Amino acid sequence: MTNIKNVEKIFNPPPYHWVGDGFKVHTFFPSIGIDKARMSPFYLLDYNAKMEFAPSDTQRGVGPHPHRGFETVTIAFNGSVAHHDSAGNSGVINEGDVQWMTAGKGVLHKEYHEKEFSKRGGAFQMVQLWVNLPSKYKMTDPNYQALEYDKMGKFELPDNNGIVNIIAGEFNGIKGPATTFTPIYIYDIHINKKTDLSIKLPKEFNTGVLILDGSININGSDTAETDQFALFKNDGEVFNISTKDKAKVLVLSGKPINETIFQYGPFLMNTKSEIIEAIDDYNDGKFGHLD
Ligand code: MN
Repeated sequence: MTNIKNVEKIFNPPPYHWVGDGFKVHTFFPSIGIDKARMSPFYLLDYNAKMEFAPSDTQRGVGPHPHRGFETVTIAFNGSVAHHDSAGNSGVINEGDVQWMTAGKGVLHKEYHEKEFSKRGGAFQMVQLWVNLPSKYKMTDPNYQALEYDKMGKFELPDNNGIVNIIAGEFNGIKGPATTFTPIYIYDIHINKKTDLSIKLPKEFNTGVLILDGSININGSDTAETDQFALFKNDGEVFNISTKDKAKVLVLSGKPINETIFQYGPFLMNTKSEIIEAIDDYNDGKFGHLD
């Protein structure tokens, strides 16, 4: 059994911080435990664990701010998030939907709880990933992909055991809808009952699993619970997930981008001089306008 992708470590959620007043997030990486390159091409994972928001007449969230050099990928598991950006794109994501924004050479955007959800209040659980771009695509034009739950690749597990929603990449020959700049797999897996599931991903791809609900056993050896993140070694291709009951997990896997990483605030570039250029361009109004 030399082709097993073994667990390197299971992480508890780190202490939370607020992004604006709408997103109470645990940043699993980059962190002391998971270096900025360790999950490349994924640079950042912010996780808003499931919580209740009280009804509010004002929309909680974060106002206009810039990004350059990467993509923000927002996945709603509970609740609704609205987005507007200076490239003219906007949208709302509900449970199971994904918004995939390519900041590229630069946009301003704002992210808020959707208006009706704010009024109603309720359960809220989401993820935001920062997906790095290789140097040759960092200054690509901004883009926006609205990936609705119904449009995800769907692999039904046998015996009504659940479903693998393929957001990016493919699973057992079924492709997800996301267009990506580097090879990436993202699966939103919903398990209904006692299940055994095998997942095969390239050995060299950096891989992790976020547990959104329930408890899973990995490779018969490691147990991961709700709100934990399992980081895998790059030692094989196949890992097994088994559950005794229902569960929800998010699988992330991608081919590492082997380039230098220089991050400052909302900018993710290769060098310090590119960061200075980004700040200058932002101050010169080159990221457009957003109220
Ligand atoms: Mn943002």
